This record gives sequence, structure tokens and C-alpha cells, in this order.
Amino acid sequence: MKALITGGAGFIGSHLAERLLAKGVEVYIIDDLSTGRLDNIEHIRSHPHFHLAVEDVRNETVMDRLVSECDVIYHLAAAVGVELIVKSPVETIERNILGTDVVLRLANRYLRKVLITSTSEIYGKSEAVPFKEDDDRVLGPTTKSRWSYSSSKAIDEFLALAYFKERKLETIIMRLFNTVGPRQTGRYGMVIPRFIQQALKGDPLTVYGDGQQVRCFTYVLDVVEAAINLMSTPLAVGQVYNVGNDRGITIESLAQKIIEKTGSSSTIEYVPYAKAYEEGFEDMRVRVPDLSKVKAAIDYQPRFHLDDILEFVIDHFKNPLD
Ligand code: UDP
Repeated sequence: MKALITGGAGFIGSHLAERLLAKGVEVYIIDDLSTGRLDNIEHIRSHPHFHLAVEDVRNETVMDRLVSECDVIYHLAAAVGVELIVKSPVETIERNILGTDVVLRLANRYLRKVLITSTSEIYGKSEAVPFKEDDDRVLGPTTKSRWSYSSSKAIDEFLALAYFKERKLETIIMRLFNTVGPRQTGRYGMVIPRFIQQALKGDPLTVYGDGQQVRCFTYVLDVVEAAINLMSTPLAVGQVYNVGNDRGITIESLAQKIIEKTGSSSTIEYVPYAKAYEEGFEDMRVRVPDLSKVKAAIDYQPRFHLDDILEFVIDHFKNPLD
């Protein structure tokens, strides 16, 4: 079995590559290192079944060769992080839509099964929690760049479902909720690595808004296992699945927990959204997945709880070479 991972040098992609190699799969990755990093894959680069192409997925010549050589495709390459999306909306829209277009067209050319990674941003600011896959989406106006991410990913989903419906291409969509673990950096705004780095330095933890927004955090290895299991489940084809953890925490409580766990003397600083992102920024108040569909499909059960996750990530920042 040969698997292609787009975005394979990224935080989630590198964990997926490692897990597939351990299962005896030959792994090809393509990553332009825009947000992915060679450090993430340093430990697997000399593996005889590992192959790397440093290239953008929009390079069709390179992608044609890779797709033709592999049996399945995990498409993870995308713009990451709300902060990056607000700062670089053109790049976000183009990267997400054009990249997925290339992946699906070539998968269709060689009849390769594809798993498309989507996002809980799809639900927008819907308040109908927990979110079910078929729920309506509630989005803000096009003048607010945050919503470009949700919309670009929705186009990816529409396209993947259309290829399945019209061309019988085997596509699966996995909607990820906040995923965390070692190798995720705070550089693109993600809250847990940011808070842990701030706590370890003794800097104030920057809680945006009133800190009462709720998120559920999933450990990266739970996500990777779900991706591999969905790929090998025939009934998953043509379907959309939430993958995450359904236990929520407010961002303020998260900050307090991190201060406690790191034994830090840091305080909490409340930062208005307009200052953290941009004027008029809209956040999701509560984001919780309904996991019944993925549980029924692959017997999914997140194995790691927030306390374990925080310990792993704190340890990773204290001992980055482990
Ligand atoms: N957040 C925060 N302080 C930070 C970074 C993020 O309070 O330094 C908040 C952010 O506004 C959001 C939540 O933490 O409500 C999760 O943010 P992240 O960027 O990790 O993921 P999102 O849920 O926005 O996709």
C-alpha cells in the first residue's frame, strides 16, 4: 500500500506519516513548507518507505506523478489558523480551493481514493450545538475575512461530494475540531501552544474576548487513527464525518488550567478581539461536535483527555528534542 499525504510536513500530516509508516505503508508526502516544517519529519526522513517532495500541491506535474504512484490520498495541505486567514485571505482562498481542485482532478484521473480534511469552521457561528454533519451553516458577511476559510473549505467539500456523486470517485470528508499535540506551533494563533509558551516564559496568557467561548480539544493521535480507519471503511465513501472530542472547556478555564499545570506565575490578560485579530472580528461562542456518526462508522472514541493532552504538549515545549 502506498499513501500520499499532502501537507505531510505539517503538524497533523507528520503524525499521520509516522503512523502509516509504522503500519508498513509506503508514504509519499508533498509539502511546500509554507507552514509545514522539515523538523516535523526529521526523524522519519531516512525511513526506506518515506519519500518527500518539497512542492506546492498546485504544481500539477509533480502531483500527477505522485497521485499516479500512490493508492490513496490524504489531503491535508491547507491554510491553517484563524490568525493567518485574517492576515492573508487571498492565499487562504487560493490555497484551499485550487489545491483541492488539483487533488480531486488527479485522483479522478487515476481513480484513487481521497480523504479530504475539512474543518468545524464549516458550521460558522451556528449556535445549534452539538454540531451534526447535516446541520445548517451560519456565516457572517464576505466583508469579514474569517468567513473565507469556512467558505473555501465548503467549496472543497462540495467538490469532493460532487466527484463522488457524478464521477463515482471515492471521496471521504473529515471535519476536524480543534486538534492539538506536539509539533503544533503557536505561530499561527493556536491557543494551546500559545498559552503554554506564554506560561513557560512567565508572560501573561492572552485570553481573547471575555474567555467564555467554549472549545473541545482533540489529541492529534486520535485524529490520525480516525483518518486511517475512515480510509479503510467502505461505507465511509461519499460521507462527511465530524472528528473531535465532545468535552468542552472555556478558554478562560483553559488558561487557568495551563497556569496551574506549568506552575507558572503568569497572569491572564484579556485582549479584545478587535486588537487580537481585526476590527469587527466574529468568533464562535461554542463549538462542540456531535460524534454519533463517526462512532457508528468506525467505533471512534477519543482516547486522550485534556489533562493528558496538556501534559504531553507542556512536556514537548520543555523538551523539544524528545
Ligand atoms: N484564543 C485566545 N488567545 C490566544 C489564541 C486564541 O483566547 O492567544 C482563543 C480564540 O479566540 C478562540 C480559541 O482561543 O476563541 C481557540 O483559538 P484557535 O486559534 O486555537 O482555534 P479556533 O477555535 O479559533 O479555530
